[in-house]
Amino acid sequence: MRDKQFLMIPGPTPVPQTALLEMGKAPMGHRSTEFSAILKEIYADLKWLFQTKNNVFIFTASGTGAMEAALSNILNPGDKVLSLVIGNFGERLAKISTTRGADVERMVVDFGKTIDINALKERLAKDVNKEIKVVTLTHSETSTGCANPIKDLLAVIKEHGALSVVDGVTSVGAMEVKPDEWGIDILISGSQKGFMIPPGLSFLMASDRAMKAYEECKYPSFYFDFAAHKKNLEKDTTPYTPAVSLICALNATLKMMKEEGLDNIYARHKRLALGLRKAIRAMGLKLFVDDDNFASYSITAILPPEGISVADIRKGLKEDFDIVVADGQNDLKGKIFRMGTLGYVCERDVIGSIGALELTLKKLGANIELGSGVKAFLESLI
Ligand SMILES: *Cc1c(COP(=O)(O)O)cnc(C)c1O
Repeated sequence: MRDKQFLMIPGPTPVPQTALLEMGKAPMGHRSTEFSAILKEIYADLKWLFQTKNNVFIFTASGTGAMEAALSNILNPGDKVLSLVIGNFGERLAKISTTRGADVERMVVDFGKTIDINALKERLAKDVNKEIKVVTLTHSETSTGCANPIKDLLAVIKEHGALSVVDGVTSVGAMEVKPDEWGIDILISGSQKGFMIPPGLSFLMASDRAMKAYEECKYPSFYFDFAAHKKNLEKDTTPYTPAVSLICALNATLKMMKEEGLDNIYARHKRLALGLRKAIRAMGLKLFVDDDNFASYSITAILPPEGISVADIRKGLKEDFDIVVADGQNDLKGKIFRMGTLGYVCERDVIGSIGALELTLKKLGANIELGSGVKAFLESLI
């Protein structure tokens, strides 16, 4: 049905009408006092959303831009980086570090698993000369639906003293992250995920330690230069022309988020994701991440029933119900499908999607009892 498409993918995510209307307005001049007033509010609201006293910079770029910004401003050629890789996005931080001439060591787990705290402890304890300068890690690994036990991992990194660079692209605004308390030096995110606006902006929180590392960086990025962003942020502006319309939309969604409250937002993501997981199990399907304790609340990866292809499931959901779910990435393509519960998503959306999935699977010949998933989800809400 026209205009009924529901994006149940881990970004872009659904956008509320309030934000769309903001985007439909004629763009403001980016050096105008009106626009500066908006940016001033946003810079403050971002500190609230990121739960930090540090500055949060805004880049006109997708999430990967912020990942590159993080590493290009703190690494010098030859610096040692330990990259904790639990999926494609963790691997991306390792790859970017390599492009900066860093000496990158990966700690890799089977995808679908998280980093073992003792393994990290052991590795960092061996680094007696403190050669490892930066540890990169992913909070919610969107490619697998796993969430690292980030608070515990950060405690280990803090004890060692390395800088931590955390990809919080699908966790900021969805799952609890406390950068100041937990010791995150750089935390990044992107607009098309939990922020309820379209793709095009990304965000980066930098601690004092990160700013110090920046000062020692010989070849920092020009477009993403920390000092340029800091200087302009202090004047309620940005160094270059930002995506003005997206920023106006962001101002609207940040207000919506403040109205809902951070604890309620976290609780909603948890409720929807854990409820969806119950529904999937009740339907007799398998989850790619078995243990609820390591499940992302933004994205759930599901194995198709035997003999039914991910392509057919996605096609059925799209054609019959206008629901878009994601395929697996790279090696996981065709092996899992992923359903997002990230951002502007509520109970009604998930109830409908579970029902749609049941019927789609039934039509494809799966042995599914209609209503089993919906019933489990509804019961999880009581
Ligand atoms: C979406 C995403 C990114 C950034 O991807 P872009 O396509 O550049 O916006 C980075 N990390 C994670 C975990 C993501 O989900």
